[in-house]
Amino acid sequence: MSDRELYCDTCEGVQPFEAPPCADGHGADCPELACTGCGAAVMVGTFAFPATQPAGRRHRAPRHRAA
Ligand SMILES: [Zn+2]
Ligand SMILES: [Zn+2]
Repeated sequence: MSDRELYCDTCEGVQPFEAPPCADGHGADCPELACTGCGAAVMVGTFAFPATQPAGRRHRAPRHRAA
């Protein structure tokens, strides 16, 4: 099963997407999906990357001193 449902801007709705024939040799790892409704191809490879968060950023609550 390579089909997945994604929101398509062209179709203005959620459409089933399927992996198009890949000419780049990606095979099953091809990061592209094509809308079955309009044929628009989208890249979904970014979803496979691990979410990285900048280190060292912490929320610091403002301290209010009561006089
Ligand atoms: Zn590909
Ligand atoms: Zn579409």
